[in-house]
Amino acid sequence: MNSRIPLSALSSARTIRSPKRASWSSLAVVAALSIGFCQASLAQQAASADGGTTLFQNVRIFDGKNTTLSAPSNVLVRGNKIETISAQPIAVDRRADTRIIDGGGRTLMPGLTDAHWHAMLIRATPAMMLGSDAGYTTLLAGAEATATLMRGFTTVRDMGGPSFSLKRAIDEGVLPGPRIYPSGAVITITGGHGDFRQVTDLPRTIGGMLSRIEQLGGSMIADSPDEVRVRVREQLMQGASQIKLTAGGGVASPFSPLDVSTFTEAELRAAVEAAENWGTYVSTHAYTPVSIQRSIAAGVKVIEHGHLMDDASARLIAEKGVWLSTQPFLDLAGAAALGSEQQARMRQVISGTDRVYALAKKYKIKVAFGTDILFSQALAERQGNNLVDMTRWYTPAEALIMATSTNGELLALSGPRNPYPGKLGVVEEGALADLLLVDGNPLQNIELIKDPAKNFLIIMKDGKIYKNLLATDK
Ligand SMILES: [Zn+2]
Repeated sequence: MNSRIPLSALSSARTIRSPKRASWSSLAVVAALSIGFCQASLAQQAASADGGTTLFQNVRIFDGKNTTLSAPSNVLVRGNKIETISAQPIAVDRRADTRIIDGGGRTLMPGLTDAHWHAMLIRATPAMMLGSDAGYTTLLAGAEATATLMRGFTTVRDMGGPSFSLKRAIDEGVLPGPRIYPSGAVITITGGHGDFRQVTDLPRTIGGMLSRIEQLGGSMIADSPDEVRVRVREQLMQGASQIKLTAGGGVASPFSPLDVSTFTEAELRAAVEAAENWGTYVSTHAYTPVSIQRSIAAGVKVIEHGHLMDDASARLIAEKGVWLSTQPFLDLAGAAALGSEQQARMRQVISGTDRVYALAKKYKIKVAFGTDILFSQALAERQGNNLVDMTRWYTPAEALIMATSTNGELLALSGPRNPYPGKLGVVEEGALADLLLVDGNPLQNIELIKDPAKNFLIIMKDGKIYKNLLATDK
């Protein structure tokens, strides 16, 4: 969880003039290439050609919105979009690039999305990131990106870390991975959540050398509205689809306990203005009522976490139409490596989990599904289990709708900065073709999501098939 140890990492959030940039970029490319070639397994070999056509015959559709499956249907994907959905047979010319899949009455559903992910920070710990070459940690992130896609997560909203180069390599087809909506570096204050310096690094000289975590683009420290503006604009220049600030303390922060409020309202507003000038929005890491309310007063559109919110802040979130991107934190698994003080904070956050979902339901808050898994490949393998955990508060259908079409609405908030214009999280004509063929009905048995290797027979992203356990008639 962002909370647990946060944001950090490597490469791309560097200035263009930095003499090191060239070598870092090269490393990232080498890294990505290596991953692409080495993992040319299942995924790469199954990928269909660009611009190909796929016809799914005899599938029952969970469209990302309705709580029941469709009647047996046929779905034609041409290029990267869903072109036709029909209960009647769809005629295709059987050219070499047309693939026909007999769904056998199985479920076709949208690819899953994770609204709070850290693509660069799953397999690498903060210590590894601060102490390793960026090429190594980029390779780790590339391998994890492929694993993420193979779990059926076709899109992630990256809430901090230098994921720009990874996103680029995935988009270029260098390696398989999900669509990434990058925030770039998390922006924090001196001593705030995401500041990984030591006290011996103080005092900071304004305009002086950047700390290691800032050089890596994991987080940036800003202590005035002017500094905030610079840091926000730097992320936008690199392709951030939204901006992430930490409005309060976090679980793993060395120097900012949960009760701490960090930015002033003027600083938050400076970020909001800079983001809105680019047509996009700011999300804040905020657990407490004060940090939530201050964020909303400044124009923040999405609250990340919110586990310690009270009734008044929940009502405010609802009244202002603000999104809540929260996570089903239920145990200490993600805090296993932390000290006792941090674990105590984690317990406090977990104690708010039931309440946050109850308040969200009470006030009909727009809730996104995300996991905020950090620093553990083993936990990442349980990404889908987090969605199943949502059934503690929601029906399976409600949980699946949240992880598909609802998250898709949140992603669209990036407006003109949306790197993947088009509808995500739905199975409908004209939508982007991110699809899973599931061996069973997840609306009735959501446990299927826990074992993607077995139950997701086909994984398609952007019209390309990255996994196919069915024989195809071609
Ligand atoms: Zn996070």
